[in-house]
Amino acid sequence: MPTLFEKIIARQIPGDIVHQDDRVTAFRDIHPRAPVHILVVPNKPIPTANDIADSDEALIGHMFTVARDLAKREGIAESGYRLIINCNGDGGQEVYHLHVHLVGGAPLGPMISRA
Ligand code: 5GP
Repeated sequence: MPTLFEKIIARQIPGDIVHQDDRVTAFRDIHPRAPVHILVVPNKPIPTANDIADSDEALIGHMFTVARDLAKREGIAESGYRLIINCNGDGGQEVYHLHVHLVGGAPLGPMISRA
């Protein structure tokens, strides 16, 4: 079964894609938590951060350089932003296709709320 994000990457279902290359796709989150909320996703389906292979190091680095460039393009590089990867249940992961959240455009408050 393809993941939801694989279907967006393959343009089988709608997605507001802001960047796509041979390794990575970035699209706007359907439920944005901030004025800018973009998901940077590897084109190949890595389920969680636990599943990143040593051979994926360049791909993971590319996800971050794409996020950096998108932050600049969205005009939030200087004001600031947050990059988030959630992993499994306690991390709050909902979609099991690795993704970096790029969020910004307003003060984001503390990194995590108190337990
Ligand atoms: P996670 O909790 O797995 O780190 O984040 C998954 C994110 O995917 C959530 O922020 C959620 O709003 C977003 N999302 C879920 N379904 C869709 C969808 O169909 N399209 C888009 N663009 N984002 C989605």
